[in-house]
Amino acid sequence: MEIFTEITALRAFLSSQKTSNKSIGFVPTMGALHDGHLTLIKASKQQNDLTVCSIFVNPTQFNNPNDLANYPKTLEQDTRLLRSVGCEVLFCPSKEDIYPHPPVIRLSFGDLEHIMEGKFRPGHFSGVAQVVAKLLHIVEPDHAYFGQKDFQQLKIVETLVSELNFNVSIKHIPTQREPDGLAMSSRNMRLNQTQRQQAVIFYKSLLLAKKRLSEGVSFDKIQEEVLALFETQPGVKLEYLEIADVANLTSKPRVTADAVLLIAGYVGEVRLIDNLLLTE
Ligand code: AMP
Repeated sequence: MEIFTEITALRAFLSSQKTSNKSIGFVPTMGALHDGHLTLIKASKQQNDLTVCSIFVNPTQFNNPNDLANYPKTLEQDTRLLRSVGCEVLFCPSKEDIYPHPPVIRLSFGDLEHIMEGKFRPGHFSGVAQVVAKLLHIVEPDHAYFGQKDFQQLKIVETLVSELNFNVSIKHIPTQREPDGLAMSSRNMRLNQTQRQQAVIFYKSLLLAKKRLSEGVSFDKIQEEVLALFETQPGVKLEYLEIADVANLTSKPRVTADAVLLIAGYVGEVRLIDNLLLTE
């Protein structure tokens, strides 16, 4: 695996590969890799001649300085994992290379950036879009891979790419889960044993909400039930449980087949998110 820490060196390497007509797949990450990330890498490897994974903990998408400071960093293990699945290129740039000066351009996304994650993490999606735009310009991939685990982020990236005519096709990968249903996440590493067991409440709540919807229960009532479920467990906190249209997230679904359930909250200090398509 080729490892690059500088934009110029990565670009020189990739342009030599592109002259031999190799297709490029790109998987942007913040590191602390797990099997969810590796599923994206494997999908890219199947569909492209060369796969580039980036590891960059992007400061502009963190609204909470503690969350940024505590974000897990496991570069040595990440490198081993990427080698084990045959990733060809790792790009891990410095903060100075990505942001040589504080960025002045802000991207905004209308209602989509102010609901759910955007409401609880002001400025988050502007930061996500900023770094994704930069990375897509640096790598210029044919395909870029994103997980449905971050459903709202996926919608932001799709909006960015379609409105600004980026020459890349965005691929979605379904959420990879632990055997008990907890969505894999780098943040799970921060949970102690008890919290790890409690964390399954997010997936259980999604399943409960889906079941109650199929029984014809109103969504307001379901929100109350899920809140009550969270209140039975000390140390967990519900931020939101919402239902939205899969196409844009900004409107209510007309029929449940068009719906996605989205949930977020805390286990101790660790913030977790998850979602479930009603067609799943
Ligand atoms: P992150 O390192 O958390 O920024 O995630 C990098 C990419 O991996 C994003 O596109 C995520 O949506 C995706 N991802 C993270 N966790 C999972 C998971 N459990 N299943 C599928 N994709 C995931």
